[in-house]
Amino acid sequence: MTDSYYQKGQRRRLVDHLFQKGIHDQKVLDAILQVPRHFFFDTTFIDKAYEDKAYPIGEEQTISQPFTVAFQTELLAVKKREKVLEIGTGSGYQAAILSTLGARVYTVERIKKLYIQVTKRFKIYYPTIRNYFRDGHKGLAEFAPFDKIIVTAAATSIPISLLEQLKLNGILVIPIGDNSGQEMLKITKVSEENDFIQENYGAFKFVPMLTKKVN
Ligand code: SAH
Repeated sequence: MTDSYYQKGQRRRLVDHLFQKGIHDQKVLDAILQVPRHFFFDTTFIDKAYEDKAYPIGEEQTISQPFTVAFQTELLAVKKREKVLEIGTGSGYQAAILSTLGARVYTVERIKKLYIQVTKRFKIYYPTIRNYFRDGHKGLAEFAPFDKIIVTAAATSIPISLLEQLKLNGILVIPIGDNSGQEMLKITKVSEENDFIQENYGAFKFVPMLTKKVN
């Protein structure tokens, strides 16, 4: 797929829009400027890739709205070389943003078709991202602990495994709630004795986290 000057211009406008909406972390804005969001789109919607909206990616799932991606990424405060786990690979766009920030990215997906599709995409465009077909509720124990964990589907409660797989001073960003809506939580592990600080960043709307695998 190609990345034209026109699409780069559209990304510049999207970045300006996100800045207006309150995203002021320059590294996050630069990553959004760099990553061609249209590479992660279904061809049907490709001309919509730079609108600040969520779009279908098949299997009743969506690529998150750019504002949401930027907001969660800002909360995660990723530093170069950090080990970051994403739950809910979907299109792969959020993982690409994390990789562009210099993180070592691990990501898990529950729907086989999406997993297969994104594996091909990563091989071409982001070969250092490691992706797995797993239930995100369990995290990725064999690669734990992680500096940061980001969940991009809604959970009804905080999965204990994810808390366990955080390093000391590690951060988990996760939307918690039911189908009617969720609250964005930032949870920081402040001691090895499992003490956590929880901050609430307001209302969001995500697709629900699945419990069963979908082949
Ligand atoms: N981060 C994605 C947004 C994906 S939407 C992007 O940038 O495009 C949420 C994704 O979470 C969907 O792909 C969905 O299939 C996946 N998902 C749902 N339940 C899951 C679970 N239990 N474990 C891992 N992934 C899950």
